[in-house]
Amino acid sequence: DDSNSFVVVANRLPVDMTVHPDGSYSISPSPGGLVTGLSPVLEQHRGCWVGWPGTVDVAPEPFRTDTGVLLHPVVLTASDYEGFYEGFSNATLWPLFHDLIVTPVYNTDWWHAFREVNLKFAEAVSQVAAHGATVWVQDYQLLLVPGILRQMRPDLKIGFFLHIPFPSPDLFRQLPWREEIVRGMLGADLVGFHLVQNAENFLALTQQVAGTAGSHVGQPDTLQVSGEALVREISAHVETADGRRVSVGAFPISIDVEMFGEASKSAVLDLLKTLDEPETVFLGVDRLDYTKGILQRLLAFEELLESGALEADRAVLLQVATPSRERIDHYRVSRSQVEEAVGRINGRFGRMGRPVVHYLHRSLSKNDLQVLYTAADVMLVTPFKDGMNLVAKEFVANHRDGTGALVLSEFAGAATELTGAYLCNPFDVESIKRQMVAAVHDLKHNPESAATRMKTNSEQVYTHDVNVWASSFLDCLAQSGENS
Ligand code: UDP
Repeated sequence: DDSNSFVVVANRLPVDMTVHPDGSYSISPSPGGLVTGLSPVLEQHRGCWVGWPGTVDVAPEPFRTDTGVLLHPVVLTASDYEGFYEGFSNATLWPLFHDLIVTPVYNTDWWHAFREVNLKFAEAVSQVAAHGATVWVQDYQLLLVPGILRQMRPDLKIGFFLHIPFPSPDLFRQLPWREEIVRGMLGADLVGFHLVQNAENFLALTQQVAGTAGSHVGQPDTLQVSGEALVREISAHVETADGRRVSVGAFPISIDVEMFGEASKSAVLDLLKTLDEPETVFLGVDRLDYTKGILQRLLAFEELLESGALEADRAVLLQVATPSRERIDHYRVSRSQVEEAVGRINGRFGRMGRPVVHYLHRSLSKNDLQVLYTAADVMLVTPFKDGMNLVAKEFVANHRDGTGALVLSEFAGAATELTGAYLCNPFDVESIKRQMVAAVHDLKHNPESAATRMKTNSEQVYTHDVNVWASSFLDCLAQSGENS
């Protein structure tokens, strides 16, 4: 039976597929927060997942995961991958939606590839979704899918969630294809964002684009803001040209707190034991992406060593930088800048056999990350812009006992909820330095205050985990359209 009443569609399937030289392939699960948050719903509703398996030109037949979720692979060609994924998704939308940290490239061929691939995803969903099914479309790679699906299958209930920031209308309006994109998103019954600010940007945009595009969308209703001060939920409605009401809301994503039990022994743990008892262990864990502010953080650390505010014998920085989008120029440049800084800092302040920065350019398992989170005194999360930042939430979830401190960029979505963090402006190295020093100072001289801050952070994450995120979105989706 191929029909499904609950369909998740995301750029990637929750698996990693490798094609071997003889043409055979192997598939391993790649569990992430999204899978965890959606698993209960997928299992409960005989759900399935439509997405790309990560290989070009070939894809396996639909298959079931160990947990019983049916996966429907979408086949992408090498040229789809370049134009849709590396091009439009990651060299146009990604920098535009992260407030132009680098300049977006507007390329018509990429746009055509993006439209084409969104059509492929929509067709795949249309084939597997049962009559009246609920479809949950994920993220910026699939902005057009709600609109295309709405036309193909008016019977479906469609939700869309954006996992990255949504920029101010003044930035978004640069996009040559802005009207098509907004209309694509408005194909959904509910459009969800992490933050109220993102949702407000979108609502303002629907008005502006409506003005320039011959009223494809109408005025949104008055914004209603409800909920506790920490995570305000908003709901508003947009009337579309075809007379539908689209709900818009804010649903901050979170982590699976249950994943953080006891970490088992690991090579990372062995490495940590070889450090000769530094007083302060700083930690950074990021994809190597120019949005993450890794270089600024290294510069802050370097300047603190230089001024003597930190002593090279007493402080160490562990930086994990996961390889990411390595064929895109800006990512290559970021990597060389980061690695040059690591080399310089170790050259200046390290000793033989005792670097001050321990740098890994690879992906670590959750278990290894957990070992690092637990060992770290001060976690440094300093992105210029980040939709949420789950690493920050994972760190605080590992410090429920009140140990440790989090230095967090005010431009990370997580800053809205993690009010016990030491907030910094990542564009200002002095601000990063000040908050690093404040965190170290409190841990040493003001431990009660540091513990109160950390407990505030971890409490927020424990009471707002990924299940809360998924169910609040899906409840809101179920209610959307009912009163129209
Ligand atoms: N992560 C991982 N191994 C690594 C580095 C990161 O499993 O070596 C995970 C990390 O635990 C987190 C996710 O990748 O769950 C990163 O999410 P985040 O929101 O912080 O950043 P993104 O990479 O999505 O921009």
